[in-house]
Amino acid sequence: MADRDRIPVCAANWKMHKTIHETRDFFNEFLPEIDGITGCEIIIAPPFTALKDACGAVAQAGSAVSIAGQNMHYAEQGAYTGEISPVMLKEAGARYVILGHSERRHIFKEDDSLIARKVRSALDYGMHPVLCIGETLEEREGELTTRILEAQLGGALDNVPPQQIITMILAYEPVWAIGTGKTATPEQAQEAHRFVRNWIESRYDSGIADQIRILYGGSVKLGNIASLMVLPDVDGVLVGGASLEAASFSAIVKGCVQ
Ligand code: PEP
Repeated sequence: MADRDRIPVCAANWKMHKTIHETRDFFNEFLPEIDGITGCEIIIAPPFTALKDACGAVAQAGSAVSIAGQNMHYAEQGAYTGEISPVMLKEAGARYVILGHSERRHIFKEDDSLIARKVRSALDYGMHPVLCIGETLEEREGELTTRILEAQLGGALDNVPPQQIITMILAYEPVWAIGTGKTATPEQAQEAHRFVRNWIESRYDSGIADQIRILYGGSVKLGNIASLMVLPDVDGVLVGGASLEAASFSAIVKGCVQ
């Protein structure tokens, strides 16, 4: 693992997977597996319907695992059929919320200004956004990666002051690597993470850039965790498919601290 002061984060995004029953089964198997593991912050984002049970399972086991929402509306309440508010997420026990995930950007057409409102709102309600950014394959091939990252960071963090950016987590997730089995090479990942950290330094300052945690996401599995965690600017991972099985995700968590 790279020599860094930042505590690594191992985060799971379950997307639209797992019923309440399956969530309980996962935690029954997962929590004993990671019992006693220190030096890594673990975050799990179940679907909304399973949030309360996930928080209950973690609390009952006295575990330090944090629970996250996968998305939220920016409003506290209102006529927004099908949406969920920051207050509701918090009440259910979520500490973090994933915002700007590429599936929200590309399937549900969320743009940077909407994501910025959500980031602002999550912070206002005392939650920690996990802000996802990343380029498509076409953008990478067109050598637009840094321009895209810059636009996504600038857009989403428009109203975020220094004392709040450090409470957030950033996740670089190249869209072409999500759920495809293709992982960015260590060089590609390090280059993008370094760019993001430099951007934070120029927008805020070097102290904040040194503190903020930047996760890599995109087909992370046990087989590639070591090659990612060794990179100096990769502070952990955001895992989709490989987080659905307790055995697989607990092995990745262990890989994050080795
Ligand atoms: C994700 O959903 O953020 C993700 C990275 O998915 P996967 O690990 O399946 O590529």
